[in-house]
Amino acid sequence: MLPKDLVDELMHFRAERDWAQFHTPRNLAISLSLEAGEVLELFQWEDRRGAALDKVMPQLRDEVADVATYLTYLCADLGIDLEAAVREKMVQNRRKYPVELAKGSAKKYTELRAGDEA
Ligand SMILES: [Mg+2]
Repeated sequence: MLPKDLVDELMHFRAERDWAQFHTPRNLAISLSLEAGEVLELFQWEDRRGAALDKVMPQLRDEVADVATYLTYLCADLGIDLEAAVREKMVQNRRKYPVELAKGSAKKYTELRAGDEA
């Protein structure tokens, strides 16, 4: 979902360095997960809000950029249209989480329809 010129820049960056040879789907999936873990690490011992969140914001920006970069490579290599995939997921999620059942609730869709017994 990054703009095409930025995706092209990422692909050019990788091609210049001949790194695509290391970017198997497995390696990209692992890297994506590791970078998401680095996002999580920033919140490991603290539920950061306000000033505590501001303190880590530069690192958070770096890590979400890493996540977006690996996700972009993975989607590009596997021919996944990320925008289309997200749009399809929204259709599914609207069906799974109708407003009248899901509003204000953190329950999983399987629990929403089970009522209060879940
Ligand atoms: Mg990182």
